[in-house]
Amino acid sequence: MAEDSIAVVDLDRCQPDRCNYECSNYCPPNRTGKECITLRGEDAEDGDPDQVRISEEICLGETCGICVEKCPFDAIEIINLPQELEDEPTHRYGENAFSLYGLPVPESGKVTGLLGPNGIGKSTAVKILAGEITPNLGRHDDAPDWEEVIDEYRGTELQDYLAAVRDGDVNVARKPQYVDQIPDQFDGTTRELLERTDERGVLDDLVDRLSIRPVIDQSIDSLSGGELQRVALAATLARDADFYFVDELTPYLDIGQRVTAARIVRELAEEEDKAVLVVEHDLAVLDLLADSIHVAYGEPSVYGVVTPPKSVRNGINEYLRGYLDNENMRIRPEAIEFEEHAPRPASREETLVSYPDMAKSYGEGEFSLSVDGGDVHRNEVLGVVGPNGIGKSTFAKLLAGDIEADGVDLDLGMDIAYKPQYVEADQHMRVDAFLSSITDDFGSSYWKTEIGDPLQLDRIMEQNLTDLSGGERQRVAIAATLSKDADLYLLDEPSAHLDVEQRVLATRAIRRFAENRETTVMVIDHDIYMIDLLADRLMVFDGEPAEQGHASTPQEMRSGMNEFLANLDVTFRRDENLGRPRINKPDSQLDKQQKRDGEYYYT
Ligand code: ADP
Ligand code: ADP
Ligand code: SF4
Repeated sequence: MAEDSIAVVDLDRCQPDRCNYECSNYCPPNRTGKECITLRGEDAEDGDPDQVRISEEICLGETCGICVEKCPFDAIEIINLPQELEDEPTHRYGENAFSLYGLPVPESGKVTGLLGPNGIGKSTAVKILAGEITPNLGRHDDAPDWEEVIDEYRGTELQDYLAAVRDGDVNVARKPQYVDQIPDQFDGTTRELLERTDERGVLDDLVDRLSIRPVIDQSIDSLSGGELQRVALAATLARDADFYFVDELTPYLDIGQRVTAARIVRELAEEEDKAVLVVEHDLAVLDLLADSIHVAYGEPSVYGVVTPPKSVRNGINEYLRGYLDNENMRIRPEAIEFEEHAPRPASREETLVSYPDMAKSYGEGEFSLSVDGGDVHRNEVLGVVGPNGIGKSTFAKLLAGDIEADGVDLDLGMDIAYKPQYVEADQHMRVDAFLSSITDDFGSSYWKTEIGDPLQLDRIMEQNLTDLSGGERQRVAIAATLSKDADLYLLDEPSAHLDVEQRVLATRAIRRFAENRETTVMVIDHDIYMIDLLADRLMVFDGEPAEQGHASTPQEMRSGMNEFLANLDVTFRRDENLGRPRINKPDSQLDKQQKRDGEYYYT
């Protein structure tokens, strides 16, 4: 008996009418006559009678795992729980279903961060804190009542909070994770959407500070992702609630907008004494935003553990190091490390392509872009930074030959593979069919090691493109772009909707790809940590968004970061333990000193 293993059967995947119950036929205990894998039967709480159930008492655990291998639909997961985990679950959805351990603690006047991968139970935790799910303490077949649950938390910070939830006294405002879906749910203008939310009388102020005014009379379905994100945030923060939950603040926002949004959320907590919980995968922004953080770890869709609160600094450092000190728990085999000094200039630089000075304007008096000519090196990852609406995608399209520069016939003679910022998936096609239509390498061991595995595509291969979540669609789009045969690869905001772990994996995959294939990748992104870990050199855009933009020639990281951050008036210091960059408080000693020295990033 493996008392500390957990068996999860994904009921959406388990299709007994299409297999021959290989799982139970091969299960060693079953073969000796025990009832380890059995049919759910008529009286099952959930699932169909002919789907399987697995006895966690009899199962031999992860080291056996035969059923996991045998199931043709990847419906089974058997995972040994860490021995350090002594507590009972807070909630389990059902027999052989996901389990959540621990809960974050919302605190009035504070912003609490939640840091961890997707699928680890963050929304489940929020549903409990919002009173939508009554936690069952893991006893799905014999659910406890609220009194018993509160008893369980007696003496902890959560006791009073949960009692208020039980009494229906907690009012929750929530910003959803995927803002792209808002237009499907709301028909009307920005003003109409926001009007109904102004419970605190602060909407006008939010509209100005989040720069929503220019789109206030536009219909919601015409807004860009970045605009939707700011509208959704305003709609959430304008409400009068006790507990605010912001599920990702940053997707599609540029760094200036991220910093502004973070400050507004902080003010809500500090000045209005509200409790705010945020899930955020941009670590520089999380650092700025939160007063304390809970790290969530485990195995996505199997179990998740929310740690007690940690200081922001320790929480993020432990997370990056891959080891949680108090929990005594390794969550990743290796640490993520930043270089404290700008990477050394490359000694051998081979030019892949040179492009001339050029300009592009759209229509009369609309947006115009001027580009300083430059070289792109072979074998490099070139980071591209600058605010939204400044011409970055326009530049990408010029290189790709999708649009023509004014008066210049730019024929680079190159094949360019391009992933746009907004990834659409309207084809009714399976992921594997889609990817194999792009490259003959699909399914080869090279493709699997370099692209499929690091982008965690294995479990979604049989899914339909239209059924994928935002993060899944992003990973498929990155894979599809890197699978093409091209001279130059352009990725526009690959971090959007990837969780922190996936960002780390994608960063590694993109770097290895550039090195192993001797090719060049240009990455436009607003996650400063991702750009730092990824790029060899930097291209900086500045100007007046939606009016005119200027692209400087590609330069070394140090000077590039200085130019970019000087435009934003933001400086970074280094955490003394890990060398991790942290945003300085405006007008602090360090901030002033660094600005005087002109060193905004690599101090
Ligand atoms: P996160 O917010 O961290 O992405 P969720 O809390 O949404 O994670 O989900 C965690 C896991 O719980 C997922 O694997 C999901 O499939 C599972 N889950 C969510 N809701 C239910 C439900 N009602 N019944 C069974 N499993 C569920
Ligand atoms: P970024 O990628 O930096 O966010 P873009 O290159 O997408 O910026 O856009 C720069 C500006 O040009 C924006 O104001 C955008 O609305 C405008 N723009 C982009 N494409 C067109 C077009 N085809 N016609 C007119 N204006 C456009
Ligand atoms: Fe049976 Fe458990 Fe082995 Fe699966 S992992 S085959 S359920 S013993």
